[in-house]
Amino acid sequence: MEEESDLYVPVAKRRAIAAQRLLEKQRAIAKQKILKRKRRSSSEQVDSKVEESKENRTNLPSLLVTASQLKRDAPEITPKEQLLQQEKQMIEQLPDRKSLMSVHELAKGITYTDPLPTGWKPPLKIRMRTAKQCDVIRKQWHIKVDGEHIPPPIRSFKDMRFPERILKVLKAKGIVKPTPIQVQGLPVVLSGRDMIGIAFTGSGKTLVFVLPMVMMALQEEILMPIAPGEGPFGLVICPSKELARQTFELVQEFVNAMEEDGRPKIRPLLCIGGVDKKSQQDIVRKGVHIVVATPGRLKDMLKSKIMKLDNCRYLTLDEADRLLDLGFEDDIREVFDHFKAQRQTLLFSATMPIKIQNFATKALVKPVTVNVGRAGAANLDVIQEVDYVKQEAKAFYLLQCLQKTAPPVLIFCEKKADVDEIHEYLLLKGVQAVAVHGGKDHEEREDAISSFKSGKKDVLVATDVASKGLDFPDIQHVINYDMPAEIENYVHRIGRTGRCGKVGIATTFINKNQSETTLLDLKHLLQEAKQRIPPMLAELDDPMEHTSDEVEGCAYCGGPGHRVGDCSKLEQHKRIVSSRRDLYGSGGYVGEI
Ligand code: AMP
Repeated sequence: MEEESDLYVPVAKRRAIAAQRLLEKQRAIAKQKILKRKRRSSSEQVDSKVEESKENRTNLPSLLVTASQLKRDAPEITPKEQLLQQEKQMIEQLPDRKSLMSVHELAKGITYTDPLPTGWKPPLKIRMRTAKQCDVIRKQWHIKVDGEHIPPPIRSFKDMRFPERILKVLKAKGIVKPTPIQVQGLPVVLSGRDMIGIAFTGSGKTLVFVLPMVMMALQEEILMPIAPGEGPFGLVICPSKELARQTFELVQEFVNAMEEDGRPKIRPLLCIGGVDKKSQQDIVRKGVHIVVATPGRLKDMLKSKIMKLDNCRYLTLDEADRLLDLGFEDDIREVFDHFKAQRQTLLFSATMPIKIQNFATKALVKPVTVNVGRAGAANLDVIQEVDYVKQEAKAFYLLQCLQKTAPPVLIFCEKKADVDEIHEYLLLKGVQAVAVHGGKDHEEREDAISSFKSGKKDVLVATDVASKGLDFPDIQHVINYDMPAEIENYVHRIGRTGRCGKVGIATTFINKNQSETTLLDLKHLLQEAKQRIPPMLAELDDPMEHTSDEVEGCAYCGGPGHRVGDCSKLEQHKRIVSSRRDLYGSGGYVGEI
């Protein structure tokens, strides 16, 4: 019965079921419609964004337009700036531009930010001077300075607070008033500042690093006497044995005088090759305050741990351009590796090409640059005569030239063989001559220099070994038997005369054997020093005449007559650097001259 009733569905119920089904169907359709609409609206949104961005892109200016707009907005670069930028890039791309820091400092990331205090102060009256007053003094003395918080210039040794005894020694040497490099350089060094000193040879730059070093050694000795094996406090590095000896002798003079005055004993050491190592070792064992060295022997002593630089607080590189030049650079870097703490670093030179200045500033702490006379410029107290002389007529003309002045006369040649040949020729002609070059042994070199210095011999024939920093008093005449390939060497050579205000003569033989770059540099140097230009140089087609007047010479070597692109020294640098791998293998480096 039940089943039957189940089978039968009343009409009303059937209608209700049909209505329910219809309702559900309608709801499903409505749901689907909503979903569809939602999907459509989101895809429409994406489409509209795409459209929008398309529209934006079409509104943007083209790359070409942007580029030309950028060009228009960029500050205008003058041809001079463009040239300088290109040259800067050339220098920056040079290989082997390592900084002058010890491996220890590089590894630990140590950089020093403040100079070492010394306790020295100028007298109150000088401290009270305004910056403007200091600038007026600098201008009067033709001193150019650069750097932060530069100590004031001081015009008397007394105001620099040197002891009375030092003033007496200076007076006995005829040194009463400081020279320009001393007026500014001594206050800088006495204040403990790092310094780059650019001064022509004979300007008195040696005293600028020697006097403060002696004072510093005395101060250290008074505070805490040196123990055996300790030291040095001060180190001077020179590129040649002769220059090292000369500097050492000056140091000795001052320390002896101070000892006679009742001050503590200061032990200096001359650390150069060719001198018995054992006697040098003995001095170090007793404790040494000051060392004047050449790179080779110094490197030896440090490597074998005979000497240490743990206490060294004062470092001078004399003739720094040559020391940092190829050949010595690695030795100097090795020496730097032995420093254990901050030191006061001084670089001195007559010539200081920009590449060296950039390089050197990395090793110095807030350095002060003191420049008396443009870097690389020749001494204005020298009358420079340049003569065209054929190769075969040189010897004969040399004899004539020797009559121009009274002795002493210095003759320079590029090659050792020429030195020997001329020496022999002059002896045959009865001239009292001696000769010096790198091929002669240490004793021969010493004897020749001392007999020339003492006036026993009239003429010294030499290679450039005698051209750097050596102080021969009262040289009347410098003869360049040949023009050196590098203008720097010419500046050094002629700087042997015309020292400390006295006028000297330099005669240079030129002919077709010299490169045009060398002759152009010489021409510019003569023009700068307002000297007579010989016809052979006047006729040269000078590319620098076509560039702006304001563009200074070669950014690499400082030569005034050529651009860095024509620099033979730069080419030589590249060649040596690229061949270095082989040289290292055979332990080769360019040694001391
Ligand atoms: P330097 O440039 O250091 O090689 O010095 C060259 C020569 O100048 C040396 O013979 C010094 O004795 C001398 N000299 C240094 N300072 C002075 C000075 N203030 N007045 C006169 N002569 C000086």
